[in-house]
Amino acid sequence: MGPSIHGVFNLIFPRKCVHCDREIDNKKSLVCFGCEAQINWSKPFKNKLKNQVLQGVYMPNVQGAYSLFSFSKEGVEQSLIHSLKYQGSQKTGRNLGKSLGQTFLELNGEHTIDCLVPVPIFHRKKFIRGYNQTRSIAQGLASELNIPVQNNLLRKKKSTKSQTKLSRNQRRLNVENSFFASHAFKELSEVGIVDDVVTTGATLLELCTEIVKVNESIKITIFTLGVARLE
Ligand SMILES: [Zn+2]
Repeated sequence: MGPSIHGVFNLIFPRKCVHCDREIDNKKSLVCFGCEAQINWSKPFKNKLKNQVLQGVYMPNVQGAYSLFSFSKEGVEQSLIHSLKYQGSQKTGRNLGKSLGQTFLELNGEHTIDCLVPVPIFHRKKFIRGYNQTRSIAQGLASELNIPVQNNLLRKKKSTKSQTKLSRNQRRLNVENSFFASHAFKELSEVGIVDDVVTTGATLLELCTEIVKVNESIKITIFTLGVARLE
């Protein structure tokens, strides 16, 4: 585990491990030592994970894909994402985003990304959950990359079913025409799209397609906390 990862768990949040429910000695941690050791960090960005995302989002505009860990169902990674989504821990999102940014910079040094755009969720869902978790990931990432977050360039036009139980093809149909990309993308040359977990890449492919309709020469980099295998 590299030094940049250490900051991830210095969070004032639960008293119990979000994965195994055991009491945690270090009250600032999200997971216990045993569970932390089980996390499949993808540092330095495993090609396998990268390729999975790039195969899902097969467009020449997409330049690269970066993830923090491989996401296994019922693993520690799922508990982390779950706590981020449903326990309203924006601080968790920001810290994981920072780690993603630090690791990206260690690997690439400089970058030419203009801004970060979080994957939007439908406004009713945001209302229920209170916030969009990809925004907090983007905030942490942006603070490391020293670029702004643009929350209003992408909009989810309609509510879509949860993708969890759907096949690859069903996922593509499910998200078809569900995003709106602002004309402001015309003014940008390179953007980073921020997501929490990528599985088939159907959502990303759909929204990247919408962005490219607005600006056909735009370069896109994908950032995601986790990459999951399709069960
Ligand atoms: Zn644990």
